[in-house]
Amino acid sequence: MTTPTIGVLALQGDVREHLKALADTGAQGRPVRRAEELDAIDGLVIPGGESTTMSKLAVVFGMLEPLRAFVRAGKPVYGTCAGMIMVADKLLDAREDQETFGGIDMIVRRNAFGRQNESFEAAIDVAGIPGGPVEGVFIRAPWVESVGAEAEVLATYDGHTVAVRQGNVLATSFHPELTGDHRVHALFVDMVRHTV
Ligand code: GLN
Repeated sequence: MTTPTIGVLALQGDVREHLKALADTGAQGRPVRRAEELDAIDGLVIPGGESTTMSKLAVVFGMLEPLRAFVRAGKPVYGTCAGMIMVADKLLDAREDQETFGGIDMIVRRNAFGRQNESFEAAIDVAGIPGGPVEGVFIRAPWVESVGAEAEVLATYDGHTVAVRQGNVLATSFHPELTGDHRVHALFVDMVRHTV
């Protein structure tokens, strides 16, 4: 498979930027709003945005269980920022009724960097990405408080975990789709290519 089809969950968030980053890294991106559309994709990106809203919309649109099943089936999923929150098995500083799709055995703290500094950029070294650090754009970003034995920490910033992979699920606190450097998307597209 040379050109995998990768969905971008389009309930809420910065969908367009991810579609562009996927196109730039050799994948066919397509917005996904309905459960049936999950059948036609090889992998899924969950964008940045607002995870409480995304969680509510997933329930309203009947996407919560289908997305959990998608992750459980071992399909590749990449979450950025709010998307990282959505692939966490457990949250801190979230509303009681906030749901996640899960996939990574980790505890993610919402708005963790946000309280200190609403938005900032930093050079981030990501394990498995050659060519030097990537530009990390953090916007009211979460961090990973702790990970389980199966999860691999790929990057830290200021002592906090900001990129994690467990099996076919990848998550970053920051937004590579907002920069011109799409090496993290290239890594994800590679994961998808190796899965199908
Ligand atoms: N703070 C947001 C949330 O909790 C995430 C911010 C982002 O995706 N840029 O959902």
